Amino acid sequence: MAPRINGMQSPYAPQLILLVFTVVGIGLMHFLVLTSIPQSESALPVLAVSVVLYIAMLITGVVTSGINPIDRTSSQAPDAEADLDSPAVMPAARPHCSICVRPVNGQSKHCKYCDKCVMRLDHHCFYLNTCIGRRNYKWYFATLLGALLFCSFSFGLSLYALVSYYTDPDGFEKKRNWVSPCIGNEN
Ligand SMILES: [Zn+2]
Ligand SMILES: [Zn+2]
Repeated sequence: MAPRINGMQSPYAPQLILLVFTVVGIGLMHFLVLTSIPQSESALPVLAVSVVLYIAMLITGVVTSGINPIDRTSSQAPDAEADLDSPAVMPAARPHCSICVRPVNGQSKHCKYCDKCVMRLDHHCFYLNTCIGRRNYKWYFATLLGALLFCSFSFGLSLYALVSYYTDPDGFEKKRNWVSPCIGNEN
């Protein structure tokens, strides 16, 4: 098996399929809640924040998955920039991966799922189908932060909708059709 270049490459773990369905699902649920809350001055900013957070979560996730976190010391690519600790380290003194059969950086570990050595391997993420290491750690962190922000925002909005419904059911029903003019079935 050739080493996996990035998370876009098969084989895909079941967790990745689960993640795709989950992300689509929470997106749909969020926008369903959004259209069911009573009209207010803040409707447009809430929609804008939702779209920005959702897209940020998607983009950071795709970028994390798209980066190749390989330890280039062990790469065969001729133009690869090596990840040497120090240029003074002689090749003979360098650590060696017995699976890649190549010299590697001392901070690298071999991932059996990607079949390559990864710089400062944190873990292999089955959800993003890639290793998380030095090259993509910042993007991975941004993905988690984006997901946390979007889910917190969605949870807050759902809580607001629930409280509005239980405290003033009639008002909620009267005002909740604010979205109707936008979809052309105002009554
Ligand atoms: Zn290796
Ligand atoms: Zn991996």
